[in-house]
Amino acid sequence: METVLIDGSTGEGGGQILRTSLALSCITGKSLHIENIRAARRNPGLAKQHLSCVQAACQICNGQCHGAALGSGVLDFQPGLVQGGDFYFDIGSAGSASLVIQTVLPALFLADKPSTVTVTGGTHNPLAPPYDFLCETFLPAIATAGFRGNCKLVKHGFFPAGGGKITFDIQPWQKNTHQTINLCVPGKEPQIHARIYTAKLPAHIAQRQQKLLVQSKLEFQNVEHIEVTDSDGPGNCVMIRVCNGSRTTVFTAFGMRGKPSQNVISEVVNLAKDFLAGGAAVDSFLADQLLIYMVMSKAGCCTTNELSRHLLTNMEIIKKFLDVDFCVEERAQVYRVSCHRS
Ligand code: AMP
Repeated sequence: METVLIDGSTGEGGGQILRTSLALSCITGKSLHIENIRAARRNPGLAKQHLSCVQAACQICNGQCHGAALGSGVLDFQPGLVQGGDFYFDIGSAGSASLVIQTVLPALFLADKPSTVTVTGGTHNPLAPPYDFLCETFLPAIATAGFRGNCKLVKHGFFPAGGGKITFDIQPWQKNTHQTINLCVPGKEPQIHARIYTAKLPAHIAQRQQKLLVQSKLEFQNVEHIEVTDSDGPGNCVMIRVCNGSRTTVFTAFGMRGKPSQNVISEVVNLAKDFLAGGAAVDSFLADQLLIYMVMSKAGCCTTNELSRHLLTNMEIIKKFLDVDFCVEERAQVYRVSCHRS
């Protein structure tokens, strides 16, 4: 069987290249040789979270790998046959549970029977999809093409303490439904909600953030505050949820020591305002995460308000494994991304 060679320094040069490669290796049965893993990151090579992704990929298909060690920049992976079942992955740090799930999910949708996946680690991490995004934005989006999964947050885990837990139920994809992802038309008159999470932090932080949100000129239906009591360590994130019927887009900014609440709020407000001002159906994070599902269902399209480097890099990686054409068309700063597989 063919081996696909991947240069991990391609494009944005981060962990997504590894995750997409592992996922596609499991799906196609092609072996993977990847070098320069996460070359563009400050701490290149495999961190704990990426090592967990490799181990998770091995477990779901009884695969073999060489080079799976902390800091490793080179990995060889030979997939076996993907089999559904009950899986438990412990990242052992605050590494993102969603990103481990992102690695195994596509292949488990193609398994012969349902799976449950439990991951312990971070549930609300900067630079990764927070649990709320996974459950409210990502899963409903892929469900439009018949990929059906449910997730549950068992325990919150904020960076840097981690210790959170997410469970996932995955149903085999019903291929005969032959739906594709078609998320091109933006919703009309969205309702906007905000959610503030704080854990083990003084009450004045959420109060200040609430006030700043109200001053932001976005018209919120409500601003809820969730005081997290089950977390191992402190945490703070602010979400803006843009809701249109069955579609919700969750934008997030994280508070951290030394970062003023003013900055947290302007970060998340700007993300939401940019999205609302454009005529796109999908935010830039979801767009890069949808690509693999568009390709699995052989065709699909979405519109997004920003063409991220993650998205462009993901296209390059997918093309190394599969014969697929991507097309990007821009009109008035809305990007229509489509794919077709022969
Ligand atoms: P990487 O930087 O290569 O590890 O990839 C990060 C992944 O996390 C990409 O798929 C991003 O779309 C996703 N991501 C980062 N931040 C967010 C966020 N705030 N909401 C949703 N997804 C995110």
